[in-house]
Amino acid sequence: MKKIILLLITLGLTGCVGYQSETKADNSLIHYKDYVVNTSYSSQSQDERIRFLIFHYTAVNDKESLRLLTHGSVSAYYLIPSYPKQLNKKPVVLQLVPENKRAWHAGVSSWAGRNNINDTSLGIEIVNDGFHEGKTDRPLWIPYHKEQTVLATHLARDIIARYHIKPQNVLAHSDIAPLRKSDPGPLFPWKEMAQQGIGAWPDTVTVKKYLQGTHRWSPGDVAVIQQALAAYGYTIPQTGNKDKETCRVIRAFQMHFRPNNFTGVADKETEAIIQALLEKYSH
Ligand SMILES: [Zn+2]
Repeated sequence: MKKIILLLITLGLTGCVGYQSETKADNSLIHYKDYVVNTSYSSQSQDERIRFLIFHYTAVNDKESLRLLTHGSVSAYYLIPSYPKQLNKKPVVLQLVPENKRAWHAGVSSWAGRNNINDTSLGIEIVNDGFHEGKTDRPLWIPYHKEQTVLATHLARDIIARYHIKPQNVLAHSDIAPLRKSDPGPLFPWKEMAQQGIGAWPDTVTVKKYLQGTHRWSPGDVAVIQQALAAYGYTIPQTGNKDKETCRVIRAFQMHFRPNNFTGVADKETEAIIQALLEKYSH
């Protein structure tokens, strides 16, 4: 009796394995009207089309953000409202464009030798006014709500994992279009997000190493800064001069990596931060 049961189990298992392999073979074939595609061979030379994750602020309120991004000539994959609604105790993000389509969020843009970043990126828009004109000549930057940055962190973490996006490719709109854009601005919590595995941030000890023997506000070497920023990914002139364009790119860099002082001045601390980033990350 025992033998019969064992035999039945064995037969059952064998039958099962045979059935599974048949199913697998069928799954590799896609039947279209006039032809069949066989997907059983896979090339090892392939990677993701999506390489960059770009953060923005909308500069207008919720209603206007949604109108512009759904009916205007610009769009984004995700929109984080001022106060995200809750569903089952989870914050809700609006998806306006499927990830396999192209959204128009980056405009004229470049990073690490690539142009038209719309082709290779996903973009997250966050409802935030950007800045108001202050009483002095300094603009008053508007802080993000905690609920927004928490949601942005969860969303970004999943996107980065799905597409294997490198930390140095998680960027501000102002990084890829520094002459035109300032978003998501100096109050975007890059450092906190990097501490949670999202995006790049230099190591403090390495910055200190590069600052040794100098003062952080002393003038930096413009040519060295230009070269280092270009090596990191920024499009910046290589003139050795503090021209208007160079200052603007340095300002964008500082807004991201030294948000307490982003005047665009090429100082020693800026030089140390970009060198520390280059030491930690490479393209
Ligand atoms: Zn933007």
